[in-house]
Amino acid sequence: MTQGLLIVLSGPSGSGKSTAMAELLRRHPEYYFSVSVTTRDPRPNEQDGVSYWFITKDRFDEMVRQGELLEHAEYVSACYGTPAAPIDEAMARGCCALLDIEVQGAGQVAAHRKDAVLIFMLPPSYDELSRRLNGRGDTAPEKVRARLQRALEEIQHAPEYDYIVVSETVEGVADELEAIITAEQCKAARRAHLVKEDFSHALPTNV
Ligand code: 5GP
Repeated sequence: MTQGLLIVLSGPSGSGKSTAMAELLRRHPEYYFSVSVTTRDPRPNEQDGVSYWFITKDRFDEMVRQGELLEHAEYVSACYGTPAAPIDEAMARGCCALLDIEVQGAGQVAAHRKDAVLIFMLPPSYDELSRRLNGRGDTAPEKVRARLQRALEEIQHAPEYDYIVVSETVEGVADELEAIITAEQCKAARRAHLVKEDFSHALPTNV
């Protein structure tokens, strides 16, 4: 079995990453979505263990100390991190592992995992991003401002990624993500084992 693919998706909060990921997972239930740990409060529609594991700062610090996180970062006064063990297990099973993380964390993954594929999702426009963040209705105005400020900073890092996708429609962005994953799976370096197979039995014997 070949090693799985490690896909890192970044983009400002409100760019549509979670919706795009949900569509990709609907199309490919065999993919593994990495559930992060976070110290922020759950939003009304969020369930523990589905979008995040909601944990205390003490538990977060302990996970960092124990080396349980593949990467971690602070984002608008909360801590976020990717548990390493489930990623390793998914990769060993040959799964495509999907991480939805911000730019500092993506940089840490890229530094440790040279095989990681880094994708940045741009919102269609700044106005649309602002509209989406304000429209959530569950984020205080000062947090919306902080997230918009952070969005502008994050977008500056987009050119450092392997790919950029733009979230005009959910289906369109999921199509682009699928295309990237397919191309990465077809890379010669990942398929070299196919060439080593012995095809000599297929040669005609009467020539
Ligand atoms: P939100 O609070 O809107 O769910 O997420 C805020 C930001 O944190 C988003 O950009 C999201 O991608 C990022 N994020 C979520 N989980 C992780 C994680 O495990 N590590 C890092 N570095 N960022 C994360």
